[in-house]
Amino acid sequence: MVIHADKTFDSHFPVTGEVLSSYPISADSDVQEAVAAARKVAPQWQGLGFDGRRKILLAWSKLLINRIDECAELISRETGKPTSDAKLEATLAIGHLAWAARNAREVMRKQYRKPGLLMANMSATVERSPVGVVGVIGPWNYPIFTPMGSISYALAAGNTVVFKPSEYTPGVGVWLSKTFAEVAPSHDIFRVVTGLGDTGRALCESGVNKLAFTGSTRTAKVVAATCAKTMTPVVLECGGKDPVIIAADANIAKAAEFTLWSAMSNAGQTCIGAERVYVHEKVADKFIETIVEMGKKIKPGAPGVGNYGPATMPKQLDVIDAHIHDAIARGGQALLGGVDSVKRPYVEPVIIVNVPEDSLAMQEETFGPTIIINRVVDMAQAISLSNASRYGLGASVWSGTQGPKIASQLECGMVAINSTISFAAVASVPFGGVKDSGYGRIHGPEGLLEFTYPRTVVRARFQLPVSFTSFGRNAFADRLIVGLVKFLHGRSIG
Ligand code: NDP
Repeated sequence: MVIHADKTFDSHFPVTGEVLSSYPISADSDVQEAVAAARKVAPQWQGLGFDGRRKILLAWSKLLINRIDECAELISRETGKPTSDAKLEATLAIGHLAWAARNAREVMRKQYRKPGLLMANMSATVERSPVGVVGVIGPWNYPIFTPMGSISYALAAGNTVVFKPSEYTPGVGVWLSKTFAEVAPSHDIFRVVTGLGDTGRALCESGVNKLAFTGSTRTAKVVAATCAKTMTPVVLECGGKDPVIIAADANIAKAAEFTLWSAMSNAGQTCIGAERVYVHEKVADKFIETIVEMGKKIKPGAPGVGNYGPATMPKQLDVIDAHIHDAIARGGQALLGGVDSVKRPYVEPVIIVNVPEDSLAMQEETFGPTIIINRVVDMAQAISLSNASRYGLGASVWSGTQGPKIASQLECGMVAINSTISFAAVASVPFGGVKDSGYGRIHGPEGLLEFTYPRTVVRARFQLPVSFTSFGRNAFADRLIVGLVKFLHGRSIG
């Protein structure tokens, strides 16, 4: 990344390296100013209520869909991905925005809870309040879909937002905030600060009320440590090493077609993309033959030319290359592509079979158009190997009858059965991982609640003749409370 003397940096077209535009490197003071401005307008945004916010957010989603060509073109220029992929990404993001806008009221509705016999004179309620200002730090691989999973839900819940896009896709972030400003009463409700990693650090230290991060596990740990200094809560969506399990009764043609797309579309730069496949030995030959034949028909290239584009972040090519070399050096057999497949800025499709489980390509996120396929003797082995990873983001299961049974045994946040990454497109379900893939959830009711805090309100509807919470408590009250608890909880077990 070139940093200029005037404290700006450039965005590039990854296919040619051509400079697209320059953006300010926001200093700590710029970030603090943006957060202060967002905090100042928070009461105004909250004051609009659910109906007011819904109207504005739906107007924004309408504007985004009307200008989807412009949006897709910008995404394609900054990431190098085909514009049709960029459009798909944008439509999914718009779907989430509309869902969050329409459902915030219901999800955040005040809840009445049973007070229990001892507190029968109380009315117990739980209210939900927005946390205040939410900081969002986004990645470059899906520069609209991924951050909007936090931005839409945070805004719908009544928060204001300061967003720091990846240094590879600053233009998409700036465009998002500009389009929002066209429909919103104040552009401070959703601000964007451009910059490098240090700007992200400044956002973590800025006193935002919650920080939503998407990116690598390594940076997520730095973000969490930085936020811990100010007790800023975080939601972390990190990397994955998503397994695909293929049972003997799977639809092999569909499993091969969807797994190939999951692994290779977007040049493999998908946190929930297929990285490793465990296929039942009875159908392994058929599956491998089918997916290799399909893989031969796809190729990388510039937008409009290839099925997928270049690596958006050039340094990722070294990681992909190292994983391919290690897998083959450790005994893996390349059935499509191999050690010569990294042809900067592209990576040709790579399919390798029989790779040791402790190799780099099975342990670390590759984030390239590669698939590793290993055979298993049964589904128990597939489940055990799938779970033997430090990651736990998503998974796919292909089976005619065993899908739900296998899914419920996987240590991960999301499972697609007889489909791929479908969970990301369903707005009503939560998205996120376990283990090194992060914690907290975006999307769905859980994603809305993530950007709120619960406030318990317990009200005495009438006063009891005996006081328990008073220095006037007497021996009768003592006997009563012990007797009641004995009656309620001290009898038989069950
Ligand atoms: P990072 O995790 O380094 O970056 C993600 C975001 O965090 C970017 O906006 C980045 O800013 C910002 N950031 C960097 N340093 C800090 C910091 N100290 N404090 C706060 N924010 C910071 O990911 P990379 O883009 O470098 O990609 C590295 C790897 O991460 C990839 O190879 C891939 O394996 C994985 N990845 C996973 C993604 C997923 O969806 N799970 C998405 C993207 C990457 P800046 O861009 O300016 O450095």
